[in-house]
Amino acid sequence: MRTDWPGAAEVAVSLTFDVDAESGWLGSDPAYAGRLSTLSEGRFGVTRGLPRILAILSKHSIKGTFYVPGDTAERHTDAIKAVQAAGHEIGHHGYLHKQSDAIDAREQRDEIERGLEALAGRLGVTPKGYRSPSWELTPETFALLKEHRFGYDSSLMGDDRPYVVDGLLELPVHWSLDDWPHLHWKPGRGDAFTAPEAFLATWLAEFDAAREDGRHVTYTMHPEVIGRGHRAKLLDRMIAAMTERAKVWFASHEDVAAFVSG
Ligand SMILES: [Zn+2]
Repeated sequence: MRTDWPGAAEVAVSLTFDVDAESGWLGSDPAYAGRLSTLSEGRFGVTRGLPRILAILSKHSIKGTFYVPGDTAERHTDAIKAVQAAGHEIGHHGYLHKQSDAIDAREQRDEIERGLEALAGRLGVTPKGYRSPSWELTPETFALLKEHRFGYDSSLMGDDRPYVVDGLLELPVHWSLDDWPHLHWKPGRGDAFTAPEAFLATWLAEFDAAREDGRHVTYTMHPEVIGRGHRAKLLDRMIAAMTERAKVWFASHEDVAAFVSG
């Protein structure tokens, strides 16, 4: 896999954002329709988190990738159009964010096809990339990605470099490089927030490792998580620290996919 990044960069970084909003909850259990506090946290990601993220990316002249469930595109069309207008990539993230392993083959097809219809209908987008909700990818959904000619997937963890699985490019992810396990909290789940400085140190340590390897690394964030005031400041600091430490190619998944496949 290539490591000769554009602009003689020593490392390639993709900042990706999963705009789950309400669908992240509604897709896991319809009972969430009556849980207004939980749903409001998802909505916060769109109303408050997204504008902060867009401002930070604009300040650093970075194009990101936003994985958008069809339900989010329909419910928050104007907010997602603002992401699109700023030149960021829109990827597929299911329709109602249903975990592929929890639904049958018919529903998996609905998730892919209704998601495509929503992105096309509301945004005029045919997404090149797919990221499975909660990173559960089944053989049935994988086959649908090939049927619908997606250019890449970003759900698997079999390498920490771009790799090819059965003819489809994979831009791999990992839970440690996802803001959710560090910074999301839910009553009764028994977990705790990671201290902001420890979170930043972990992500920068992986950046240093990626720079040593000369590889590409994907960070995954959620607007309702990273878009809180103090955490948005962390994202801003993280980007500044990366830029200070190395020559970085910040690129959307679409651009990385085109480069490594070219
Ligand atoms: Zn998600």
